[in-house]
Amino acid sequence: MGDIFRDTFLGFVRVHILYHAAKGRIFGLEMIEELREHGYELSPGTLYPILHALEQAGYLRCEHSVVDGKARKYYRATALGRRILGQLKDRIRELTREVLEELPHPRRK
Ligand SMILES: [Zn+2]
Repeated sequence: MGDIFRDTFLGFVRVHILYHAAKGRIFGLEMIEELREHGYELSPGTLYPILHALEQAGYLRCEHSVVDGKARKYYRATALGRRILGQLKDRIRELTREVLEELPHPRRK
């Protein structure tokens, strides 16, 4: 995988994480499964640092919870995370309009 592909792919992964964490709490393995369904193959060694970085940046909040006797770290989007997601959605909308050429470009006649 070339660097440009990987960088872009990891950006998409962050958007997926923010989106799902804004809808409800998520945990690492569940996200790996969810992303696999979308065709992204991620190891825990790649995903967990992303979750931690998003938490450090204040976009996610970690909640510790015990489920079936197992300690689990759940993540939820913070108010800041939701706001960033809204901004990302605007950019995604704008980008897909341009790149997929499915909608008229605002500056193209
Ligand atoms: Zn997703």
